[in-house]
Amino acid sequence: MNTKTVDYLIVGQGLAGSCLAVQLLERKKKIAVIDRPIEHAASRVAAGLFNPITGKTFSLTWLADKLFSYLHLFYQHTEQVTRQHFFYPMPVYRPFASAGEQNDWIGKSADNQYAPYLEKLSASPIFELQVNNPYGGLLLKQCGYLDTVKFLNAVRMLISKKGILIEELFNEDELGLHSGGVSYRHLKAERVIFCQGIAVNQSRFFSWLPIQPLKGEVLQLETDVQVPRIYNRGVYVVPGVWKAGATYNRFDTSPGVTPVARKELTTSLDLLVRFPYQVSNQLWGLRPTVPDRRPILGSHPEFNKLVLFNGLGTKGVSLAPYFSHHLAEWLENGLDLNNAVAVQRYKSLYWKSA
Ligand SMILES: Cc1cc2nc3c(=O)[nH]c(=O)nc-3n(C[C@H](O)[C@H](O)[C@H](O)COP(=O)(O)OP(=O)(O)OC[C@H]3O[C@@H](n4cnc5c(N)ncnc54)[C@H](O)[C@@H]3O)c2cc1C
Repeated sequence: MNTKTVDYLIVGQGLAGSCLAVQLLERKKKIAVIDRPIEHAASRVAAGLFNPITGKTFSLTWLADKLFSYLHLFYQHTEQVTRQHFFYPMPVYRPFASAGEQNDWIGKSADNQYAPYLEKLSASPIFELQVNNPYGGLLLKQCGYLDTVKFLNAVRMLISKKGILIEELFNEDELGLHSGGVSYRHLKAERVIFCQGIAVNQSRFFSWLPIQPLKGEVLQLETDVQVPRIYNRGVYVVPGVWKAGATYNRFDTSPGVTPVARKELTTSLDLLVRFPYQVSNQLWGLRPTVPDRRPILGSHPEFNKLVLFNGLGTKGVSLAPYFSHHLAEWLENGLDLNNAVAVQRYKSLYWKSA
């Protein structure tokens, strides 16, 4: 077989690999993407929610000002490039849990840092036919969801049509490292970029990194009700893809769905929503999380032809666009990597393990 030369070989086509592939194609780079899809890959299971104010304490996401404006541009542009629709901006409504929380937010809503994301604070119940909210709640903007399955399929079709998709398992034992680049079977590349999600823990090059599985389960719902916004309190309900989730389980990372998770999700759902629904399916996946909750990108401490893009944790939809851009600028234009996300912050772990 003839040798084919590319600039970058990408391993994995989840959110990380897909966003990076789009970034590098935009820069007219020659790439090849190797991916063997699995049904429970985190990116395919994800509800696709993006929301700048998250968690039990309604905290503003790290780098929200950069991530959220960029992700809108990125996904809309990728819709144009692929001629597919998968990006759905839509408000999120978060009911207050108590009068105390309502009171806190009446104070906090005057804070300028929240202004870009607050559509409205309601101190009394709204949307009552659909949601329980005795203390009112926050209507948030710059939120919505990505239909991740449609997005991944659209990028897959794009790269498949270009003849640069290799649908198989990448075998590290066949990777050759040379001073000028890497080789893999009939391919030669300047660099290989590992975007494997939690499978990175089986990599002999990167398994020393503290990327830990966080199991999540979501329910697939069916309902006849028209819901024009995402509801989120204890559980989120994303219309369109009709996913409700998610659980967070660090202790049980065994494969498969569980009755415990189903019970947890339906209990929270019944507290939140008032419309009838049926559970039609239950899905599970493993999120690639990092103790400091930041993505991990950049080159291997010893072999600079090996590059990583991982650690998207619970927020792949909002992190992948901005950080794939950051990584592409580092690869192509010599931009310095932000220390908070660079592989190098963990290099002492590598030298200890070597
Ligand atoms: C239940 C659940 C709900 C979630 N909901 C949300 C949400 O609402 N919003 C949000 O922002 N995030 C959400 N997430 C998190 C999000 O899914 C992750 O942050 C993101 O998908 C990680 O993407 P990734 O590309 O790094 O990994 P993955 O999605 O795991 O993709 C890795 C890809 O690499 C392939 N691969 C790996 N090794 C090889 C190999 N050797 N050869 C070939 N192919 C290989 C895999 O098959 C896969 O296709 C959720 C996650 C879960 C589990």
